[in-house]
Amino acid sequence: MPAGDFSSWLRNFREGQKSDAGAEVPCGECFACCSSSYFIHVRADEVQTLSIIPKELLFPAPGLAVGNMVLGFDEEGRCPMLIQNKCSIYDHRPLTCRSYDCRIFPATGIDADDDAKRLISDQIERWKFRFPEESDHKQLVACQKTARFLHTHDSAFPAKTIPRNSTQLAVLALKVYKVLYNSEKMGSEISEAEIVLKILEVKEEFEAKRNSPKDQSS
Ligand code: SF4
Repeated sequence: MPAGDFSSWLRNFREGQKSDAGAEVPCGECFACCSSSYFIHVRADEVQTLSIIPKELLFPAPGLAVGNMVLGFDEEGRCPMLIQNKCSIYDHRPLTCRSYDCRIFPATGIDADDDAKRLISDQIERWKFRFPEESDHKQLVACQKTARFLHTHDSAFPAKTIPRNSTQLAVLALKVYKVLYNSEKMGSEISEAEIVLKILEVKEEFEAKRNSPKDQSS
């Protein structure tokens, strides 16, 4: 399945992460992510979404401020709002669902891992990015190198910086990939300690933009 030009996809994905716009994903008939045992975070300010999901399906999100909720899944790993293989609250689905894009896995070389995500693994094998410019390919390499660096240097970062969850790890790699991309581009050698510091700085800057909706530049 065509996943688009890599650099365009990456730019759009990153912009979507800084706003509530969500991701434009050509899912077609696929509903793998709605059937893969994901706990769906619903933010406290998603008032309309919270009001249409039956209360008994929501429970407080562990470790987050009061009002943040989680939508669970049934014994087959399916979201309870998935009815006849369609999202029954599509227009008001949580931001977590609107911003999900399984192309993050082939983009970072991270597996969707456990058996519960088998449907997603099948789906991601079908995505094919295009690399019309040399920079498309260089960006892919930097995203994949970044994902590997984060995974193998967990202990070099402050506690809880590197997510255990493969989805969050892939998203983090895409937020901070420019550290390795720019160092390759400039042909500059930087130490692992400097990479760690730069990644923390870029992560903070990216997340600050997420909280400042007027600034959407990537
Ligand atoms: S709320 Fe809708 S889009 Fe989100 S996981 Fe459930 S069925 Fe899928």
